[in-house]
Amino acid sequence: MYKNVVIITRIALLFVLAAVLILTGFMTSLQPGHSLINVSLAEDMAEAAPFTAEVHNASEATVYSGAVSVSTKSVLAPATAVKEKKHSAKTVYLTFDDGPSGLTGEVLDILKKSGIKATFFVLGEQAAVRPELIARIFEEGHAIGNHTYNHEYNKLYEKFQEFWRQVKQTEETIRLITGVRPQLVRAPGGTAGKFDETYFRLLKQGGYQVFDWNVDSGDSKRRGVPAEEILKGATTPVSGNEAIVLLHDGAGHEETVKALPGIIAFYKEKGYNFDVLTPEMEPVQFKLHSNVKTKQEQPGSRWIAENVAHNAALFKQGRTLAVDMGGLATEFAPGEYRMENGKFMVPLRSAVERLGGGVFWKAESRTVQVSLTDARWEADPIKGTMTLSGIRGKTAVSEVKFIGHTVWVPIRDVLEISGHPVKDVVSGGDVYRIVTL
Ligand SMILES: [Zn+2]
Repeated sequence: MYKNVVIITRIALLFVLAAVLILTGFMTSLQPGHSLINVSLAEDMAEAAPFTAEVHNASEATVYSGAVSVSTKSVLAPATAVKEKKHSAKTVYLTFDDGPSGLTGEVLDILKKSGIKATFFVLGEQAAVRPELIARIFEEGHAIGNHTYNHEYNKLYEKFQEFWRQVKQTEETIRLITGVRPQLVRAPGGTAGKFDETYFRLLKQGGYQVFDWNVDSGDSKRRGVPAEEILKGATTPVSGNEAIVLLHDGAGHEETVKALPGIIAFYKEKGYNFDVLTPEMEPVQFKLHSNVKTKQEQPGSRWIAENVAHNAALFKQGRTLAVDMGGLATEFAPGEYRMENGKFMVPLRSAVERLGGGVFWKAESRTVQVSLTDARWEADPIKGTMTLSGIRGKTAVSEVKFIGHTVWVPIRDVLEISGHPVKDVVSGGDVYRIVTL
């Protein structure tokens, strides 16, 4: 009898231990990038995979391959987000304008904790002074849109040429940080009363997608709008299944940050999915006001031919890059990877995480620690090397490098050092497929 009790107790203990292990693994997998332990399972990948396909990036015809903007959805996206997606057709798009600022980090922390993605319409001049926040927004899978360079109404709405100049300047600033061009545009103050027909027409011709909103949180009506009022505004009922909520993460919007958890809780409670805006969506735009005067100075046909006519080609879809690695597979949409000197370059973090591994940024040495399948290695973007850990440790020269603030690597070297050397690269139709041994 006593013996049976001991056996039962032992079995029970084993179950508890197993549960703890599974739970620990699960928690760790919710924090990609902060884990040195490779905890992601093939099942996780299979379940989350359909949503990783919704990546819309853009780029330059030759250097990069495809089109713009930004939702790199992590394969390790929390299970709750996946579940919600299956069960509801209602979607809320939280959008943050005027950043990045000193508040953006807090906003990103809240979004991360809630396991949701949002869209940031950033100002070029803010992006230029806080590139690390642009890189973080990008790496954490949020969408980045263009909100012009300096937000100055009198210049922006005096003539289209100035609006265009600021869009391009901001686009270049963001491209240097993340490697991709934002295709989404939001007009400072919204299009209402500010855009004439030319603005709408030429931005569209240039390949951009202009988004206004249908829910105004009211957080920029005046200075210091209190959090309760912002919460009320941001949860105003909307007709239809899509809510595009206007919020601000620019300087001085502390109350918006305070209101954010309540706004998220409200939409979760109502069964909404949270998603990022994409250039493929039908945009929400205010109707062109009949009382908006056509701007006095209109761009001439020569200016349009030189500036706008070829711009949309920057966002053309190119080929997908597919990687099959020992039973694990992932894809990079056009614009998510770049071709350089005949090498396929990919962002290190997203490549490793999508293949089920983990990365950890080591600030002291400015290197990236990587665990992928059974391999542990270090990438050094300054020296341009990869070093395998442990007794087999060897250093290989690789074109690991910073592009802006993001570390990029040749995918071939990643696979090789992780014990899966490339057997074949097949190109056919609209896909390059890398197959490993
Ligand atoms: Zn704004």
